[in-house]
Amino acid sequence: MDLPLAVLFLLLPVAALSGWFIGRRRGGGGGEDCPPGVNPEYLRGLSYLLEDRTDKAIDLFTRMLEVDSETVELHLALGSLFRRRGEVDRAIRIHQNLIARPTLTRPQREQALYELGLDHMRAGLFDRAEELFGELGERGDWSLAALRQLRAIYEQEKEWDNAIRAARKLMNAGESDLGPVVAQYHCELAEIDRAAGRGREAERHLRQALGFDRHCVRASLIEADMALAAEAWRSAIKAGRRVADQDPEFLAEALPRLRRAYEAMGRPLEILHWLREVEEGQGRAAPLMAMVDLMERQQGPDQAALFLRNRLTERPSLRGLERYVALTRERAEPGEQRDLEPVYTILERMVADQPLYQCTHCGFRGRVLHWQCPSCKHWTTVKPGAEAAA
Ligand SMILES: [Zn+2]
Repeated sequence: MDLPLAVLFLLLPVAALSGWFIGRRRGGGGGEDCPPGVNPEYLRGLSYLLEDRTDKAIDLFTRMLEVDSETVELHLALGSLFRRRGEVDRAIRIHQNLIARPTLTRPQREQALYELGLDHMRAGLFDRAEELFGELGERGDWSLAALRQLRAIYEQEKEWDNAIRAARKLMNAGESDLGPVVAQYHCELAEIDRAAGRGREAERHLRQALGFDRHCVRASLIEADMALAAEAWRSAIKAGRRVADQDPEFLAEALPRLRRAYEAMGRPLEILHWLREVEEGQGRAAPLMAMVDLMERQQGPDQAALFLRNRLTERPSLRGLERYVALTRERAEPGEQRDLEPVYTILERMVADQPLYQCTHCGFRGRVLHWQCPSCKHWTTVKPGAEAAA
């Protein structure tokens, strides 16, 4: 049963509802008795809702509405039910009919406007929904709820400036956890500016992103990319190295950028020193793998394999083992290579099965990094997979 309790409570006074619940739970002869002052038909409708029989509930409420068309609560409950069932046109008609009444109290009118806004959102009519939520203004019981919906609309429509404004109003009203989301909006704007060749504006947005969330990895990566494009190697290194402190799970994203900058400066050994520090401090797979790659290139496969074997005995990992077998296979005699081949093939397949990225909120798995989860739409919840970051 996914109806919000709010809908149920609209139907009855709370005291009557709780009394009736107790009677119903006890299951005694009085279970279906009606509390004084409550229409027994309401209770029957409520029963249907509790039993998840929304069709029956809708039939009953519709019949009741024909008899008693003045009941605001019934209109709201019925409209909400229709919307949930996907019958958006009927929901819109009910809510419009309600708003047209001159006798509504202000809170009732605001609630009906809010519901009508939700109907339009559900129908994909974002412009109209935006107008309705905008009407709810900055005050009143429904203004915060409307602002949350507005933020969702702006996000959907990629109107990042408006989304930032809505989120900042929500933050001023006490929703403190929106900083990282506002930082992502600024990153979106930075990427747009960067693509359009507006470097200064892009930099300004990156500074704002880091102001709202100093752990914003994405801002550091964009900054590193811009510096690489401008051949500003030191700035690229500064931005790339920042990622290790912001969120070590994302180090693997920064490493190719760092390697490019260090190599362009003709100082490929320095990155190895830095990686060693990071790896000793954090014990992550990403710097370890990067070190093995660099060692193989700079010192040869024997050194790289020896180093990796020592690390793997301390901290086993599937990706590390696959890399180790690959290095061993390269150095082995032809006969040994034949023996290692099936082991390597199995390990390779196991590593390929690991998701590269996974959403910590909904479990979405993918091979591409998304800053906003394509499945649950949460920001910054998609992280490098456990094996990559372990
Ligand atoms: Zn998700």
